[in-house]
Amino acid sequence: MTDLRERLCILARSLYDRGLTHGSTGNISARTPDGGLLVSPTGSSFGRLDPARLSRFDDAGNHVDGDPPTKEMPLHAAFYETRGTANAVVHLHPAHSVALSLLPAQDEADWLPALTPYAVMKLGRVQLLPVFLPGDPAMGDAVRGLAGRRSAVMLAHHGPVVAGSSPEAACDAIEELEATARLALLTHGMGARALDPQTVARVAAKFDVDLG
Ligand SMILES: [Zn+2]
Repeated sequence: MTDLRERLCILARSLYDRGLTHGSTGNISARTPDGGLLVSPTGSSFGRLDPARLSRFDDAGNHVDGDPPTKEMPLHAAFYETRGTANAVVHLHPAHSVALSLLPAQDEADWLPALTPYAVMKLGRVQLLPVFLPGDPAMGDAVRGLAGRRSAVMLAHHGPVVAGSSPEAACDAIEELEATARLALLTHGMGARALDPQTVARVAAKFDVDLG
């Protein structure tokens, strides 16, 4: 458990140091071996998370110790409830992803263009969700409505949320999302070619990605 606490703080610090989330934005959670959860506290900065102060929940969802959890907890809970493979969830406010969510004419069911095989491999299809007020439990309801079919969602005007089999896997995937959004913006208006559907299907088959 000590090891998991430290891993979460090291990952968060790395994301913060590279500008992938700023101020007190961003939150991260992970399943503990006893079926509970560790969650970053409300108002905490990814640059200064304290392993000893992470919020801890038991397997019944009761807050056991540590600081009060992030107010975006409903997002995390919804992924754990609907995706059996989710052992960690991370949410950031990265600039390129948010910028891409502001553009008109978005495909909500397949928001992130399949520009690289890695984006398909790590994320599958990314669902765009509408604008919610911070901390609105309806965010969790929107994720539940996907019934576990997506590992990654993008909250419009806000930021992505990604579930993974481990904290490292979730963080790698959300970095892939931000890197792909950056490519999409760099090539916006240039007529950039996304991968063709056959290539997307081959990547998904080879790496066992559920395209939902
Ligand atoms: Zn947020």
